Amino acid sequence: MHISRRDFLRYCGISAAALGLTGTDLMKLGELLASTSGPQVLWLVGSSCTGCSVSFLNYISTTSPTSAADILVNKINLTYHPSLMATAGQDAAAIAEKAAVSGGYILVVEGGVPTAFGGGACIAWTYNGKDVTFQDAVKRLASKASKIICIGNCSAYGGVPAAYPNETGVKSVAAVTGKTTINIAGCPPHPDWFVWAVVQLLLNKPFSLDSSGRPAALFGKSVHDMCPRKGTDERKNYGVEGGCLKELGCRGPQTRANCPAVKWNNKISWCIDANVPCIGCTSPDFPRTPLMKVGEGSGSENDD
Ligand code: SF4
Ligand code: SF4
Repeated sequence: MHISRRDFLRYCGISAAALGLTGTDLMKLGELLASTSGPQVLWLVGSSCTGCSVSFLNYISTTSPTSAADILVNKINLTYHPSLMATAGQDAAAIAEKAAVSGGYILVVEGGVPTAFGGGACIAWTYNGKDVTFQDAVKRLASKASKIICIGNCSAYGGVPAAYPNETGVKSVAAVTGKTTINIAGCPPHPDWFVWAVVQLLLNKPFSLDSSGRPAALFGKSVHDMCPRKGTDERKNYGVEGGCLKELGCRGPQTRANCPAVKWNNKISWCIDANVPCIGCTSPDFPRTPLMKVGEGSGSENDD
C-alpha cells in the first residue's frame, strides 16, 4: 500500500493536538518530506514480547493511512525492522551492518538487552555465517546513531524481561551503551507517543527529558492529575461502574503518562474507562511485585 505525503500529513493533522504540532510545524514537515526520502530509521527488537510493535501496528483508521507502520515504511525510510521489512536473512543483516558503518540514522530499540552468557541468549542476526548478539548489535549501532529512541519499558528500563530472576541478565539500552536514550515508556507505549518523538526529531525541535529519560511533554503529569474520576467516590469492589479506583490499588497517582488525554485503541477508551486500575506501566520500576495491592491506595512512592 502506498502512503502519499498528503496521507502522512493528514495523519499528523488529525493528531496535531496530541502531537503538539502547530500549523507552521505541519508546513515544515510537508516541505521536509517533499524534498527528501526521510531519515534512515533502524528498528531492532531484542528481549521483548514484540507488543510495542504490535501496539504501533494496531493504529487503524478507516481512512488512509490505515496503520502507523505504513507511515514508517513508506515515508520515514524504515530500512530495518525484523518483522516489517520485506527482505530477510543475509540481505536484511547486510542493511543493518552497512548502516553500522555509515552512521547518522535514528536507532529505535524495542526490547531489553540480555548480557549474560556473552549476550548469547538473544541473536539479532547472522552475517557471513557469524551470529551477532543483540548486545553487540545495539552497542555498535548506538555508537553511530544520531538519536536513540527506546520504545517501551524493556529497552528503556529492563521491563518484564529484567524482572526477577532475570537469568539472562537483561539491561536497558542506556545501561549497556552509556548513551542518552529518548525513553518512550509504556508496556506497551501509546502509538502517538512514538510518533510524537519521531516528528520532533524530523522537525529538529528540541524537547526536554525528565529524570527517567521520558519526554516531559508526554510524561510530565500523573495519570491521576488528568483522570476524570479524580475526587469521585472510591470503589471498593471490582465490577462496579464509575468512581475512583484508588482503593482497588490504582497506581495513577504515582504514574506519569497522558493516557486520560490520548486514550487508547484510536481514542476509544483507556484503562480507567474500562474500570481497570492503572498498573503503572510507564514507570521505570514496572513491573512491581505485586502489580497493585488492593487497599494500598495511592501509597507514598513516586516513580520519579
Ligand atoms: S486513583 Fe486512579 S481512578 Fe482514582 S482518580 Fe486517580 S487515576 Fe483515576
Ligand atoms: S493508565 Fe496506567 S496502566 Fe494504563 S496505559 Fe496508562 S500508564 Fe499504562
